[in-house]
Amino acid sequence: MTVYEPSRELPVSGDYDVVVAGGSCTGLFAAIRAARLGYRTLVVERYNCLGGAATLALVNVWHSLYSTDGREQIIAGLTSETLERLMRTGDAEQPNGKTRHYILDTEALKLTLDQLAGENSVTTLFDTRACAVLTDGGRVTHLVIENKSGRSAVRAGVLKCRPSRGADRRDR
Ligand SMILES: Cc1cc2nc3c(=O)[nH]c(=O)nc-3n(C[C@H](O)[C@H](O)[C@H](O)COP(=O)(O)OP(=O)(O)OC[C@H]3O[C@@H](n4cnc5c(N)ncnc54)[C@H](O)[C@@H]3O)c2cc1C
Repeated sequence: MTVYEPSRELPVSGDYDVVVAGGSCTGLFAAIRAARLGYRTLVVERYNCLGGAATLALVNVWHSLYSTDGREQIIAGLTSETLERLMRTGDAEQPNGKTRHYILDTEALKLTLDQLAGENSVTTLFDTRACAVLTDGGRVTHLVIENKSGRSAVRAGVLKCRPSRGADRRDR
């Protein structure tokens, strides 16, 4: 059985150049890159912390930044920046040396990601679910979100999200 949900007007609760749906490490890192280029950037996260699988699923062993033979650094950028911060504060360690895996403190990672968001002027909305996108002429214009303030839309110049079966797309 199905029921009909009537359409309704939504308030526009924000206006951003870049909106990232999902506050995983990769989501936040993409947002920080955009913010560093001068774009007004929002991250929408359904739970109460950043980090995605790394924090929410307690993935606290991160693989090496180096190639398997240990000769060449093949991962850098914000992954390396985050790990350097955690190493400085003693919240990450490399028990088998500089070219091997890291073990890190999940709670310290949450705080570090919050700090990185704040320092880079990335706005974050926690406990907020990305529900649908609105499009105009095939182009995404708004992300529809829901949180304790209700349902609203944020204007998104560019939207980054993971494809999800739950996401709804509505042409205006
Ligand atoms: C136990 C485990 C171990 C792993 N080990 C490794 C490893 O050793 N090496 C490796 O490379 N990879 C590993 N992975 C895989 C890696 O974690 C994932 O590939 C990576 O996290 C995917 O990143 P992501 O940014 O796509 O999304 P995720 O990290 O999955 O984050 C998605 C984020 O989006 C949020 N979200 C989802 N839907 C919505 C919505 N509708 N509205 C708002 N927010 C939403 C979620 O809450 C979450 O914060 C592991 C994964 C797990 C679970």
